[in-house]
Amino acid sequence: MSRIGVFICHCGSNIAATIDVERVAEAARELPNVVLADTNKYTCSDPGQQAIKEAIEEYQLDRIVIASCSPRMHELTFRKMLGDTSVNPYMLEIANIREQCSWVHKDMAQGTEKAIDLVKMATAKVARDTPLKTSAIPINKRALVIGGGIAGMQVALDIADAGYPVTIVEREASLGGKMVMLDKTFPTMDCSACICTPKMADVGAHPNITVKTLAEVEKVGGYVGNFEVTIREKAKYVDYDTCTGCGLCETKCPTKVVGEFDQGLGKRKAIYKPFAQAVPSKPTIDPISCRKLTDGKCGVCEKVCPFGSIHFDDVDKVSTETYGAVVVAIGYQLIDWSELYGEYGGGAYDDVISGLQFERLVNASGPTEGHIQRPSDQSEPKSVVIVKCVGSRDPEKGKSYCSRACCMYGAKHAHQYLDKVPGGKCYVFYMDVRTPGKGYDEFYMNTQHDGALYLRGRVSKIYRKGGKLICLGEDTLMGRQVEVEADMVVLETAMVPADDADRIGSMLGITRDKDLWLTEAHPKLRPVETNSGGIYLAGTCQGPKDIPDSVAQASAAAMKVCILFSKDELESNAMIAEVSKTLCNGCGACVAICPYTAITLETVELRENSRKVKRSISKVNPGLCQGCGACTVACRPGAMDLKGFSDQQIMREVDALCQW
Ligand SMILES: Cc1cc2nc3c(=O)[nH]c(=O)nc-3n(C[C@H](O)[C@H](O)[C@H](O)COP(=O)(O)OP(=O)(O)OC[C@H]3O[C@@H](n4cnc5c(N)ncnc54)[C@H](O)[C@@H]3O)c2cc1C
Repeated sequence: MSRIGVFICHCGSNIAATIDVERVAEAARELPNVVLADTNKYTCSDPGQQAIKEAIEEYQLDRIVIASCSPRMHELTFRKMLGDTSVNPYMLEIANIREQCSWVHKDMAQGTEKAIDLVKMATAKVARDTPLKTSAIPINKRALVIGGGIAGMQVALDIADAGYPVTIVEREASLGGKMVMLDKTFPTMDCSACICTPKMADVGAHPNITVKTLAEVEKVGGYVGNFEVTIREKAKYVDYDTCTGCGLCETKCPTKVVGEFDQGLGKRKAIYKPFAQAVPSKPTIDPISCRKLTDGKCGVCEKVCPFGSIHFDDVDKVSTETYGAVVVAIGYQLIDWSELYGEYGGGAYDDVISGLQFERLVNASGPTEGHIQRPSDQSEPKSVVIVKCVGSRDPEKGKSYCSRACCMYGAKHAHQYLDKVPGGKCYVFYMDVRTPGKGYDEFYMNTQHDGALYLRGRVSKIYRKGGKLICLGEDTLMGRQVEVEADMVVLETAMVPADDADRIGSMLGITRDKDLWLTEAHPKLRPVETNSGGIYLAGTCQGPKDIPDSVAQASAAAMKVCILFSKDELESNAMIAEVSKTLCNGCGACVAICPYTAITLETVELRENSRKVKRSISKVNPGLCQGCGACTVACRPGAMDLKGFSDQQIMREVDALCQW
């Protein structure tokens, strides 16, 4: 006979205002095997937990039902509490009478009836709970960071400073991400390179950090504490061990192509360092534009290199290493406005540029050495229109969300333009101005004092008339159409997930939201963790952010990794799938459906009708299984069950609802 204790929480007035908790307790006392049913103002608080502990001793309880908020909120809290008592932490059921009941009902009688039903079901289930045990998983204390932007660098530095080895895998030829392309950063207007490049240098020189550039993660296997990661480093055709980065090869290379770092506004060579302060400070050959690699001619770089560092026969290097934790920091990209906004010229007008192109134009180390010039004729624009929310808050064409940083960098661009072009005219088309940050609103107000004219409304069309661009829009405050003539238009485009986000997400078992941003485990309580153990998120790969928020999130992710690494072994999840060897027919449906690649088929020898037979059956990897239950649904013979959520337990809940 089990001895069940039921504890009903008022949650202040969150539950008690809509549910008669005393009535729920009364009803619970009538349920089979319930020896105590009590209420508490805040069950999760210290006195609330203490009351449960005392009741366990006094009434010799062996199973607990807590009727309170969602288990996502406090199931772990209560399991930890049970760890200090004689009750197994898995002999616990939570009846969610807050999110699923008091918060969705207004009528007390109705809400109370539903709460009683939820408690009945939880009590029926807990009676079938069995004690579960966790197992110990050893932890390999090396971290992998995917993406070397400001977020990835911050994660790597924090983990490395704590004494653990870190590898950064960066897809481009240098660390830095978008931040190093920016000119100045709002609201303090410090030079972006001056705060970003020292960090890049620190990462490059840190004894605990290995940087792999032009590299990508190809495959990830294993589980928290023991991820097997395959990394491909593309051929650079330059031996970084002997190259001193003298730059002679780059100077002598005769091939010039459009430069990606300058957003198509400048040129680079076929052998190149993306920018002066790049880390690593060594060049790489772009095999698509190098004449030696494409048609066998040239080879000047090889001839002039004093150190014999050029190797045209270089090949990709593929390695597989083990890491205990993975932090994803692959950042964002900007929406391709030219495809979506044909009414803005669809990319046909040279002087309609993106915000990132403006950053390169205004940057002293950019293609124009910081002189703001029209790309079409290199003249100084006497008037500029800045259009915000291009692709953001526009569900029809772009994305429904707000890209968060654009109101501020739109104001920054207005300020930079007015500062560099005295007497210039600057118009900013906006939907709303959103400036929630320290010193942000003051910065925006100052932009208006500088002379920027803010017009509330969207731009419906941009067309060329003579040498000018005409922006046709609406001033919704004045309630009239406006036509603004400009020499240059800057589009502040939406941040969207990096092009690789879907691949990386699938590979690591990270869910994506409807816009493909990588999703955190809980938006409030676990903002840097994912639903896959040992895998964390940092920076804009999780959603649009500015630099301070990206850095803060990166340090939080690093802290999570350090907490993981502070232990030698990890407790595995006890509520995982288990296979019945007798029922499994080896069809593999569970293998295909498992999002965590936790199930494999293995050949086992079984005894059937007193004969030994070899059969293929499913095997669950306890380190990888996250207990999602997808396999139990897919399994036609009913061989898969979830510990703590067995079919039997769920049927008991249904029976309880229907019968009592
Ligand atoms: C025009 C403009 C101006 C801005 N101005 C400001 C400002 O003044 N102040 C401010 O606070 N914020 C500003 N921002 C926002 C700022 O750019 C971001 O907050 C910041 O860059 C986010 O850093 P991150 O590391 O998350 O992403 P990113 O900078 O995008 O870095 C991601 C890195 O991951 C790498 N990567 C991507 N995919 C892979 C892969 N599969 N494998 C390996 N590596 C990969 C990328 O190459 C990149 O190096 C501005 C943004 C724009 C567009």
